[in-house]
Amino acid sequence: MTPRRSIIPVFVPHLGCPHMCVFCNQRRVTGAPRPARPEDVTRALEDGLARLMPDAKPTLAFYGGSFTAIPVPEQEALLAAAKPYLDAGRIADIRLSTRPDAVDENILSMLQKYGVRTVELGVQSMDEEVLRLSERGHTAHEAERAAKTVKSAGFEVILQMMTGLPGDTREKSLATARSFIGLSPDGVRIYPTVILRDTPLYELWRAGSYREHTVEDAVDLCAELCDLFDGAGIPVIRVGLNPTDDLSGGDAAGGAYHPALGELVLGRRYLTRERALLTEADRGRAVAFAVPFGRVSAAVGQKRANIRALTAEFGVKCVKFRERDLPNLTVMRIIA
Ligand code: SF4
Repeated sequence: MTPRRSIIPVFVPHLGCPHMCVFCNQRRVTGAPRPARPEDVTRALEDGLARLMPDAKPTLAFYGGSFTAIPVPEQEALLAAAKPYLDAGRIADIRLSTRPDAVDENILSMLQKYGVRTVELGVQSMDEEVLRLSERGHTAHEAERAAKTVKSAGFEVILQMMTGLPGDTREKSLATARSFIGLSPDGVRIYPTVILRDTPLYELWRAGSYREHTVEDAVDLCAELCDLFDGAGIPVIRVGLNPTDDLSGGDAAGGAYHPALGELVLGRRYLTRERALLTEADRGRAVAFAVPFGRVSAAVGQKRANIRALTAEFGVKCVKFRERDLPNLTVMRIIA
């Protein structure tokens, strides 16, 4: 996978999307009120480049919607607006996201012509029942075929999964992660389900037909999923929706929305490692851990959540942390 670069985002909410998944209201997720036009691409690039260092070579990313389900002339118009910037070396590459049932060889060769390097597939689940209840409109088999087709055409592939969808369980999410690992993507994004207003899921939740996937549910499960992907050498490039004023201001009516969800998940991953180093024999004792440089706040947890959990579970007198030159997510017991 190429090193992470600055991103210049262009949002294409619902543009081209032939579906209405129960959880989706792209306009609220992206905060963009209408689909992008070629002139929006040019403006985003000019504004974005003006904010970056002159030698920065950012990635242009088309997010939201289902890019490759847009009529081809419109796809080409958006990409053509970016092409001069790519040819002049002002941007490094282009990425876009789409649905698994909206890619085929013809589309992929057109994307290659315009310099698209990365295709993100919104798979969400590899469980047929979850896909059906979420009204995704595609099967797990189609998702698998799409991932393989995109990869064998030479693109970087990012797979997106969701947790807590209707009909989903912890086991099903873990099984989806294992299926993803079998497809060897270049990275994954994990989006725990957020209940957005003006969506069918909101109505199901209000009617008591859908059990909310809470922030706590999501933190616990995503910590395990991240460990699974890490163990397979697959980068998790995002956990949770990008916070926006609208989401924080009430559009996220319930579910696993937290502006710092990724940090909560990282804190939980440290807590798991800290727990594994304590026993009943530590009751009443002061304990200390060594953690990597820059990771004390994750190891302590948000609002000292990890320290409170260890104190409650093991009855330790106090918990101290020291920074050491250690690999990420390494925790060692040291003398207090
Ligand atoms: S396919 Fe994507 S953009 Fe379309 S409704 Fe579903 S989540 Fe929203």
